[in-house]
Amino acid sequence: MDAPEDGQVPMDNDRKPREHCGLCGVTGGEGLLERLHDGLQAQQHRGQEAAGVMVSMDGACRLHRGPGLVEQVFATLPTSWLGEGGAIQRGISHVRYGTAGDSIAANAQPLLVDMAGITIGIAHNGTICNARSLRRELHAQGAIFQTTTDTEIILHLMARALMTRCRGRIWDAFEDALRQLRGAFSLLAMTADAMVAARDPFGFRPLAIGDFNDGAYIVASETIAFGVTGASTMREVEPGEMIVWDSSNRLESRRFAECTRRAHCIFEHVYFARPGSYVFGDSVYEVRREMGRRLAREAPVDADVIVPVPDSGMYAALGFAEESGIPLDMALSRNHYIGRTFIDPALTTTRCKLATNKLHPIPEALCGKRICLVDDSIVRGNTSRSRVHTLREAGAREVHMRVSCPPHRFGCYFGIDFPQREALFANKVPAADAARSLRLDSLAYLSRNGMLSCVRARRAEDFCCACFDGDYPVLPDQLDERPL
Ligand code: SF4
Repeated sequence: MDAPEDGQVPMDNDRKPREHCGLCGVTGGEGLLERLHDGLQAQQHRGQEAAGVMVSMDGACRLHRGPGLVEQVFATLPTSWLGEGGAIQRGISHVRYGTAGDSIAANAQPLLVDMAGITIGIAHNGTICNARSLRRELHAQGAIFQTTTDTEIILHLMARALMTRCRGRIWDAFEDALRQLRGAFSLLAMTADAMVAARDPFGFRPLAIGDFNDGAYIVASETIAFGVTGASTMREVEPGEMIVWDSSNRLESRRFAECTRRAHCIFEHVYFARPGSYVFGDSVYEVRREMGRRLAREAPVDADVIVPVPDSGMYAALGFAEESGIPLDMALSRNHYIGRTFIDPALTTTRCKLATNKLHPIPEALCGKRICLVDDSIVRGNTSRSRVHTLREAGAREVHMRVSCPPHRFGCYFGIDFPQREALFANKVPAADAARSLRLDSLAYLSRNGMLSCVRARRAEDFCCACFDGDYPVLPDQLDERPL
């Protein structure tokens, strides 16, 4: 895949909403750097703009980060990290996307600062809803910010607490800072002799702990990081929980806030998380497949073949085919070598062309057939329209579409980059005209209740569905503030 170039905004060919970050931390054990690399790389889908890693070595913290994929950033690690060693005791790492206007270099994470003589690093997944008012307050007290990320606010809050209420107790200061935040934050932090994981009281974003048989621990956004490193899943970091691993790798659980309502992001199950992961206690693969089965029951179709949109619609399509008894065929083939492209967002024509080129129709599988296309979501509608056009050009007799979540009508304040509300397809086109607008013979979405019925480990009310129903579990500083 292409690396981003300075000054350009990363745009996904398929124009899906983007997760902002993925986390991986390891403390103790052998081959720590390799485990960090493998765990982070398995979560590359959560952010492809920049990556970073911070380690403690021989009692000192070191940081390496930069633009590009995990592989590219790790390829330029200082050679001193790679020597004889075994001297790395703990490390945290991060992949990220940015938003327009971000400085890729300055905002790459982990962020590392010196705080009253203690070096501390921090990495964050999510979005802090009261960032604007906290930043204003800190500015008024003389704080100087080096980045535009909300993550840096946590460090300033810590520094303030460290000098006042917490008197040099660094993790008490961290806890104090967490209590002042509202919104979505799964966090990893470390000093030279401790590592910490924490999750906001709603538990918006996933964060889980695994362990190795050599006494080491791993913390990651998704459990796929455990599978690839040989770790076993222990449990999730609970909403409102902070876990500290001290210099002897002893684990201490603290509760910095009560969890009065869970609000796990249901879109992790629909689209973001990898099918090989468990998030919020459920297998993403099983939930996604069940969504397809449920969709087939809610919106049956008269078709000859079920065609998944690769790769995002794959598992829902499997479930749909299974339930409906209609055969599945891979009639759209993906060109993996186009991958992501980083282009000027103004180049709409180029982007549409790239979107079309990424998926190739196979006429032999389509000609004269009634097709049911299964995808995980429709965001702006442009890509779906061009896909339908492609299928018809390749000879499909009818094209129906089934979507494994409800229509997106609202933005997200909790770490997902949706377009402006008015750009969302479901807001632009009345439901009665939606199929015609996409040149479909029929279009149906999975219902909200149907979607939530597919999770097992948690109750339906434990999920955030705000981008579908506008019911935000927590609101940002200003109600008119545009979601990410
Ligand atoms: S608004 Fe949507 S994308 Fe954002 S956290 Fe809630 S369910 Fe997830």
